[in-house]
Amino acid sequence: MTRKCNFRCEYCYFPHDNTPVTETLPASRIKAFLDATGETWKVGLTGGEPFIYPNFVDVCEVLTSSHIIGVDTNLSVSSKVKEFAERIDPERVHNLYVALHIEERERVKGVDAFIRNAQLLMDKGFEIIVNYVVHPTLEDRFQADCDFYASHGITITPRPFRGEHEGRRYPEAYGDRAQAVFGDHPEQGKKVAFNFYGVPCSAGRTLLRMEPDGTVFRCPGDKTVLGNVMDEVTLFEGYEPCIKKRCPCRGLDHVQLTEFEAHMVDGVQYAVVADNEQSRAAFELAAALLPGDPCAENNLGVLAWRQGDREEALRHFDSALRSVPDNTLYVSNRDGAEAAQDAFDPQICLDVNSDLKK
Ligand code: SF4
Ligand code: SF4
Repeated sequence: MTRKCNFRCEYCYFPHDNTPVTETLPASRIKAFLDATGETWKVGLTGGEPFIYPNFVDVCEVLTSSHIIGVDTNLSVSSKVKEFAERIDPERVHNLYVALHIEERERVKGVDAFIRNAQLLMDKGFEIIVNYVVHPTLEDRFQADCDFYASHGITITPRPFRGEHEGRRYPEAYGDRAQAVFGDHPEQGKKVAFNFYGVPCSAGRTLLRMEPDGTVFRCPGDKTVLGNVMDEVTLFEGYEPCIKKRCPCRGLDHVQLTEFEAHMVDGVQYAVVADNEQSRAAFELAAALLPGDPCAENNLGVLAWRQGDREEALRHFDSALRSVPDNTLYVSNRDGAEAAQDAFDPQICLDVNSDLKK
């Protein structure tokens, strides 16, 4: 809805701009576009901060008259939250995905208001999921924060940090620490930005992304323009290959995976929450279907390394490199394992597509 926001989270990749939102669209046009597809859509309203959008509650009212909405929010604009709670039917709201952003919330002295807003919504029957981005610098305080909010009836759901920190790529770099953070919420820890390049995906028909000016893209990752709701939008007819090497979100619900690819996805998801036994089982099933697949070999190497079996890890990394000698991930894993430093943490491969590797 907008990239503007009233918060200034340190790890945010949007410009920290809190001037009034001036670029708006008539909600009736968005509703008309969605209605014309003949489907009931789940419309995720996100930002920036959607509650600072002019007449936000009116937009929600229009959309919920024929579709379901979800809202991604920091839940800090108390007057609008109150209006939302009073005017919108909780049955038409999938959920409110509420980001706690603990350091920023404390900086703006918004903890008490947050608790009041969350309790108001829960009392009205809205489902709220309060998520906590477990940036590596917050890992030490995470549990204490969970306990504090639980004492106010608010459950915290950990959300993996995605990105680079001190030269390491997250969420994969949580490694064994992931058990402590995501042990009770494995489904959260498993949210990984896979490489689905070449895999058939129904995004463009079952998943769309709309920008504040009404431009409709195939999905959040693929910026192929399908039109504009103020004019005309032509959706894809069926599955088309993914053209991106990193799927930022939700692709897993829309891709059509082979059996091999499904095992690779399982293996990675178990690996990132440090369920190493299940992960190995999944990669072994994948490797049985496509013996020598370099990504599966690399990942079996990572699991062997985690188990302390350096020789076995090296065998797998070497095997991956024999298939793709210039792959920088495989090279760095093999070199790291060869140097055999205790702190070395090899990285898993997120490539899913079997066709590219045959
Ligand atoms: S609340 Fe979200 S959009 Fe706003 S600054 Fe924080 S991360 Fe960025
Ligand atoms: S796999 Fe992800 S990035 Fe690729 S088309 Fe599907 S939703 Fe988009």
